[in-house]
Formats: sequence, C-alpha cells, structure tokens
Amino acid sequence: MKLFAQLATAQATSRKIWTLAAPYFRSDEKWKARALLAGIVLLNLASVYMLVLNNDWFRLFYDALEKRDQTVFWQQLGRFTYLAFAFILISVYKFYLTQLLEIRWRTWMTGHYLQRWLSHHAFYKMELARYAANGTTPDNPDQRIQEDLNLFTVYSVSLSMGLLNAVVTLVSFVGILWGLSGIFSFTVAGSTYNIAGFMVWMALLYCVVGSVLTHFIGRPQIALNFAQQRYEADFRHHLIRVREYSEAIALDGGEKVERRQLDTRFSSVLANYLKLLKAQKNLIWFTSFFGQAAVVFPFIVAAPRFFSGAIQLGELMQISSAFGRVQDALSWFIDNYSSLAAWRATTDRLTSFEETFQALAQGNTAQAATNTVANTTDELRTQDLTVSLPNGTVLLTGLSLAVAPGDSVLLKGPSGSGKSTLFRAFAGIWPFARGQVQRPPDTMVLPQNPYFPDGPLRDALAYPEPVTAYTDEALRQALTDALLPQLASRLDDADSWSQKLSGGEKQRLAIARAFLKNPRWLLADEATSALDESAENTLYKRLLERIQAAQGALVSIAHRPGVAGFHQRQWTLVAQSQEASQARFVLSDGAVPQTPGSPPARG
Ligand code: ADP
Repeated sequence: MKLFAQLATAQATSRKIWTLAAPYFRSDEKWKARALLAGIVLLNLASVYMLVLNNDWFRLFYDALEKRDQTVFWQQLGRFTYLAFAFILISVYKFYLTQLLEIRWRTWMTGHYLQRWLSHHAFYKMELARYAANGTTPDNPDQRIQEDLNLFTVYSVSLSMGLLNAVVTLVSFVGILWGLSGIFSFTVAGSTYNIAGFMVWMALLYCVVGSVLTHFIGRPQIALNFAQQRYEADFRHHLIRVREYSEAIALDGGEKVERRQLDTRFSSVLANYLKLLKAQKNLIWFTSFFGQAAVVFPFIVAAPRFFSGAIQLGELMQISSAFGRVQDALSWFIDNYSSLAAWRATTDRLTSFEETFQALAQGNTAQAATNTVANTTDELRTQDLTVSLPNGTVLLTGLSLAVAPGDSVLLKGPSGSGKSTLFRAFAGIWPFARGQVQRPPDTMVLPQNPYFPDGPLRDALAYPEPVTAYTDEALRQALTDALLPQLASRLDDADSWSQKLSGGEKQRLAIARAFLKNPRWLLADEATSALDESAENTLYKRLLERIQAAQGALVSIAHRPGVAGFHQRQWTLVAQSQEASQARFVLSDGAVPQTPGSPPARG
C-alpha cells in the first residue's frame, strides 16, 4: 500500500514538473528551445554510441596485440584518432549546448516569474498574505526567483539527460548480456525449467530491489532538502535586515539581540543539516554496499555454469563487464537519489509559489467584482467601502465619502485607527478593502517614509518615470522649491538615497517629486512629519497653491495643529467598538475646528 502511495506521489511530482517545465517549450522561444533540446538529445545518444564503438575498438586493438598483427595495430591506432576527435567534439558541444539550454530556460522563467511577481501588486500582496487569516505563506520569494529557478532548470536538464543516457546504455548492453547469458536450466520436482537471458533478469531483480530499498532509506531527504533551503533563506534574510537597518540597530545597541536571533536561525540551519547528513549517511551505507556487492553478484550467479563447464573464463569476464554496464544504467535512480530529492524539493517550492500567484489572481478577480477602482472620474469617491486588516478585523465600514475638485480634507484619528490603510484603499493597493472606490487618474500619494532607488539623484527624483521625461532645469527647480537647494547641484551623484538622507530630507525629496510631477490630486500621509514647523508651513502652502491652481484636491493625514489651517474639512476617526463583529472606528465628516494661532483656512 505504501509503495502505491509512493508511486502516486511520484506521479504527482512528474505532473508538477511537467506543468512547470512545459510553458517554456510552448513559449514564443519554443523553436529555439526545442532545437536546443533536440541537439542535446542527439549528442547524448551519440555519446552512448561512442561508448559502444570504443568498446568494440578495445576488442579489435587487444586482439591485434595478442596476434602481434602490426597492420591492424596501426590501422586501429589511426581509427582511434578520429574516434577520439569525434568523442571530444561531442563532449564539448554536449556541455556547451546543455549549459546554453539551462541558462536560456532560466532566463525565460526568471522573466516570466518577475513579470507575475511585479504585476497587480503581487509582491506586496504576498507580503501581506503572510499575516492574513488562512493565508498561504510563500516564504522568501527572492530565493524562489534567484535560486530555485536556477536549480529547477539545471536539475531538469541534467537528470532527464542522465535518464536518457541510462536507458540507451541499458538497451545497448542488455542485448549483449542477453546473448552471453545463455539458458539457465533447473529442475524442481522432476520438471526442468529453462530461463533465457537469466543474467538480464538477475540484473533487473538486483536493481529493482536496490532502487526500492534506496527509496525507503533515502525518503526523509526530500523533506529535509526542502527545509534546508528554507532555513538558509531565513538566515540570509535576517542578515540582510541587519544590513538594511544597521543604523537603527547600532543606535539601539541591538547587536546582542540580533546575534541571538541570527544564532537561532543558524541553529535551525545546522540542526536540519545534521539530520540531512544523517539521512545521506544512511543512504551512502546502502549505496556503497550495493555498489560493492554488484562486483561479486554476477560471479556468484554465473558461478554454477562456470564450474559445470558450460562457460569459459573469457565469457565469465564478459558477463561480469556487461552486467556492470547494465547494473550501472539500472542504478541511475540509486545514484541520483539525492539530486532527485533536491529536484523534487525545488519543484514543490516553485509549485507552491505558482499556486500563490494563482490564488492571488483569483483573489484579484473576486476583489474586482466587489471593489471597482475606476480612475477616470474627476472626483475621489467611495461607496460603501469596508476596510479590514489581513486577519479579518474590520477597521472601518460603510464609508461613502466624496472629495470634489477644490476640496482640502484633513484625516485625523488615533494612531492605528486605519488612516494609512484608508489611503492604501484609496490608492487601490489594499487587498482587504470591499466596496467601491473612484479615484481621479492623476492622483499621487506622498507617504511618510518614501522610497528612492539607489543611483543618481535625478533618477531618484523622477522615479518611477524615466529621467528623460524631465529637463535639468525642472529637476533643479523642484529641489529648490522643496527647500533642498543644496541638492540641486548634485543631480548626477549616485548614492543610496533612502539610507543617506535624513528623515526630513527624504520627505522634502518626496515633495520635490510632487512639485516636479504636478499631480492635481494629492494624498499626503504624514508627509511633513519630520520637518520643522516653519518648513512644514512653507511646503504645505506651496503644495496647496499648485493644487488649487490646477483645480485639484488635497487629502492629508497630519498631527500638527498648524497643518489643519490648510484644510477646509476634517474627517475624524473615533474609536467605536472592540467587538470583532463590528468596525473598530467610525468616521465623522465636518469642518476643521478653528484653533487659536492656526493659519486661516485657504481655498
Ligand atoms: P494609522 O495610519 O491610523 O496610524 P494604519 O492604517 O497604519 O494606522 O494601521 C491601522 C491598523 O492596521 C494598525 O493596527 C496596524 O497595526 C494594522 N496594520 C497596518 N498594516 C498592516 C499589515 N500589513 N498587516 C497587519 N496589520 C496591519
């Protein structure tokens, strides 16, 4: 029963491999891919053929030596030259074309996966999905794309070609062994039985028993291999985090905690590795035993015929060597068990990654049915919008809001009440929002902690547009307007801007981006929180002037009372309920309360 379950798993794995592998050979690169594959198959067949020829050459050459036949000796040496040349040519091109297929296939798959990962906010949703109720947790997508795709293509090509080689070798040498085996006769209860190709059956039996045992001994390796890569990736991921947050960790003096965390992660790497090592050791015990036994097995089996005088020593030796070839070919499964285990682990990881993409695509469709984000209107409007957390907790519900051109709205509420999340829903990236959102096309979101790509400052400023879209004059003017005149002369300086700039400088650089792009609609999420009040007021004034001149609107999240004066309306989030069945907060819409000393409302 267990064996049947194993066979079913093997079949399921083959199906997964096929599902992952087939698209490349059906893609728009299919002719190149198929031609390369056909070339490699031919070269593999040719290399086995060369082995057979070589075998034959040995016979002729040694015969010539034994007979002291100089003519044949020189003739065979001449033949060896072109055989060797053909062998070298085949080996070089077999290597080259195999590598070429692997890297082309990997390139195609990488492009394909990057496309899907970066489409429809999949990269963002996958991170969110980790925290979702019943969400799938695809760990380390970076590793899937960088390492697993590489391993998958390499294993797929090398293992399938290895199998082909084994099968062809088997077919070539099984005939030879069959011919040498003769007929084995034995008598049971008075009747005589004759078995043709006895040695072939023996080789087959030997290898089938060996393969089945290998599988049962080596099986734990599959899960351990799968886990090993995950632990390695977790360890590496944490190292990257320490690098990314180096400054904050140094300021907090968090080295000891980080060291402990890294040690914990590495101890998982080590513990799993030791288990893997033990599993591999067990397998090596068996395969070594199996390999050594294979040396004497044919002699033991053929001995009765030798001692009865049915075969001579030469034949016995030939049987042993042909048996060796057949046994080698049949042992392909045993020899490649660890690689097969790694191939299967890689396939499983890629399949779960693939399934996540599919689940996200289905989620997108389901979401699209309830959540229309139209961006053709000239109004920011929501209808019956519900905003929840990934774990299902409802933050806000039944929101029907409208912001018309010329409006300026301040969104206030306690920390954690869902202000930023509401902005995410406005922007159409929050997958846990239901209801309708209409958003004007040229809406820009200014986040509290903006992102800048590493590289020249001009690219960071123009991001995500190409820098060619803007003149140097416009770029410099935007920086000056955003109170960053000192950066105006550094447009070509390449740096890691997200790390180098101070919080306030980053916010000013993001505002410079808004000045550069002049969106009509602006959602500012604590976009000036790190600035001093005077800079905050200057920049808010400039932003508002531009938006009003363009007949757009501004919605801000801000805490300082000074900013309130730049808005006409205020949405206030008030805590309502702690019960899971109800929304945590309600939103009330009203005028901005006047506080003494705040700038007069404009607009
Ligand atoms: P605010 O902007 O009002 O301070 P947020 O909108 O940032 O609040 O967050 C609202 C709530 O949603 C918080 O309790 C926060 O912990 C939670 N939250 C925000 N993002 C996520 C996320 N990616 N996964 C889980 N919870 C989140």
